[in-house]
Amino acid sequence: MKERDLKIYAPEGEPKMDDQVFFNPEMLENRDLSQIAAKTFFQKIDIENPNIADLLTGTGIRGLRYADLGDLYLNDANPNAVEATEKALKENSVEASVENKDANVFLSGKPGFFHFIDVDPYGPFTPFLDSTARAANYNSFVGLTATDNSAPTGSYPTVCERRYGSKPLKNGFMHETALRIYLKEVFRNLARYDKCFDPKFCYQFKHYTRVMGRVTESKKRTNKNLENIGYLSYCDSCGWRKLERVQECGHCGKDVEHAGPLWTGKIADSRFTEKMLENIPGEWEASKEILEKVHAESEIVTPFYDLHELASRHDVSVPKRDKVIEALDEKGYPVSRTHFGPTGIRTDAPLEDILEIIRSNKQN
Ligand SMILES: [Zn+2]
Repeated sequence: MKERDLKIYAPEGEPKMDDQVFFNPEMLENRDLSQIAAKTFFQKIDIENPNIADLLTGTGIRGLRYADLGDLYLNDANPNAVEATEKALKENSVEASVENKDANVFLSGKPGFFHFIDVDPYGPFTPFLDSTARAANYNSFVGLTATDNSAPTGSYPTVCERRYGSKPLKNGFMHETALRIYLKEVFRNLARYDKCFDPKFCYQFKHYTRVMGRVTESKKRTNKNLENIGYLSYCDSCGWRKLERVQECGHCGKDVEHAGPLWTGKIADSRFTEKMLENIPGEWEASKEILEKVHAESEIVTPFYDLHELASRHDVSVPKRDKVIEALDEKGYPVSRTHFGPTGIRTDAPLEDILEIIRSNKQN
């Protein structure tokens, strides 16, 4: 098989979880964006031959995507995956260290060693967080994929409590709440080692969520970022939301529900995503589209609104997204599309103003 001109040895058909080599073609955009994020990070910080880890490498494709960026350390517990990876390395004339260990054992032997650690498991990333925190250099980058979205989006609140220590909320923006719960968990695990995590580029797509950010060793920075751990308040009567723990709805005054603890800061760094946009090839269309949307919404913190949900809740016809964006922009509010969904908008405007716009007929 080929991905972006790289040859790999992958089993055909649907990915399976037996001793076959694991390859998921659905993760193309994830690998594209991870490659561009890592490239952008290494452009910003000057490290000679950075050490790059792909701890669950499968066919080797994810690691191969980083071949131009530094020294590769690939690992998989499955001997068949190691064999496929070695064949792929040879085929693409790439040199790398390949190990056949349990992922945590692989990382534990290398404290503070890696400048980029890619954690791309099937399911949650939580079993790898502790060893990732230890193996991450004081100046490094980490990327983690989670495919267990059903728990932190609120379908399985008990699983979410157990796995992430947070209460989720199932509503129109549940995927953003999930992302913020994941972010909190990554931040907390690194903070235990006095390492600060700063989100650079995080998003949700298809069935997975990806968290990517910079790690620095700084008690001061970590303490500062602790201010970004908190709760979300949500009113199920009117759809009002705020990234702060309050008791009463700021719009209708009813009691609100809470989710958290979770990350209440930005989910991307616009200076970083701007550089990523310069680095991403134009022909990687689907990946570029995700990046453009995340970039556009990166400065707005309030969780996004799904216009279909908001319209049906307030018994008005569904407004055109672009018209609502235009009207809010005219009023001087920060507003953008959101990568979380085609019918969503992200804005810091008060709910009153959003409702006034969707209730008026002008935009329909
Ligand atoms: Zn309310």
